[in-house]
Amino acid sequence: MNVFVPKRAFFEPKALDYPLGKEIYEKLQDLAVPIQFTGSHNRVTGIPGNTAREAFREAKRTLVVGVRKGTKFASCKPSAHYQLPLNTSCPSMCEYCYLATTLGKKPYLRVYVNTEDIFTQAEAYIAERAPAITWFEGAATSDPIPTEYLTGLLFKTIEFFGRQELGRFRFVTKHDKVDSLLRARHNGHTRFRFSLNAAAVIEKYEHVTPSMLERVAAAGKVAGAGYPVGFIIAPIFYFSGWQQEYDRLVAALDAQLPAAARTDLTFELISHRFTKRAKNNILDLFPETDLPMTESERKYKYGQFGYGKYVYQPEVLKEIKEFMLERLSAVFPQAKVEYFV
Ligand code: SF4
Repeated sequence: MNVFVPKRAFFEPKALDYPLGKEIYEKLQDLAVPIQFTGSHNRVTGIPGNTAREAFREAKRTLVVGVRKGTKFASCKPSAHYQLPLNTSCPSMCEYCYLATTLGKKPYLRVYVNTEDIFTQAEAYIAERAPAITWFEGAATSDPIPTEYLTGLLFKTIEFFGRQELGRFRFVTKHDKVDSLLRARHNGHTRFRFSLNAAAVIEKYEHVTPSMLERVAAAGKVAGAGYPVGFIIAPIFYFSGWQQEYDRLVAALDAQLPAAARTDLTFELISHRFTKRAKNNILDLFPETDLPMTESERKYKYGQFGYGKYVYQPEVLKEIKEFMLERLSAVFPQAKVEYFV
């Protein structure tokens, strides 16, 4: 897949007071990306689009470069203690994107340039919990890889955590541009996770993302560089031929992962589910979608704050769970399946 080149960029003027802000500005100029200024990275006006679909697509090609204010990090329970605020959104258009309901109608990409402030705050959080280990999640509101070639944010963050005795970092990506991160001194303190699915599912629903094989090849490189790796297989669908499709995914991983990586490997497995709100959003943005979202075929599971979900029927869930756990334990007996939901 080609690198992501924004169609337009907005800078907060203060971002240019930081070396990283200047560096990104120059790179964007070299790429002939039109640059404007914006008063606030939270309220960006000037992204075109007359309909919800157009505004969404234009926002996905808009980069906003800002300075993060405030010191508090959001919590990230249960997977980590804190979200590490590095960037927001991503240029891909997965129909079931888990950020679609939280990022609003114009999910533009945003990167922060005051990394030292962010790292200082992370150090304070780590000190508060010492001698316990503190985990930070770098992809709670973004896929951080597509803008990495412009910002180097992940590289810096991985090396920062490499130096932390009691701080650990994890993030997840659906992307494959990982080469610049292979030489980062991670010290085993970053878990590099890939979000994967069966090739047929990716081709159908994950627009503007690398293929299954491209992601698996990237995972092989990352594992070869000594990172602890992990995989989120999500959302798992139940369709005609699903077993062969997911079997191929496991076989592709088997072909790429070096022996050393297999002793410290994690899997997170999430079956397909949707909320009413997510369904309405998806139908607005992808009116022709053929995602299986028929409520009557699903079981309604009451959730917190009235956001119930439609999940597969118990017998389907059981079948998926048994199949996935059996395949994974046969091929990767030392891997840890963190959860299946
Ligand atoms: Fe959303 Fe991840 Fe797809 Fe980007 S790659 S659209 S963040 S699901």
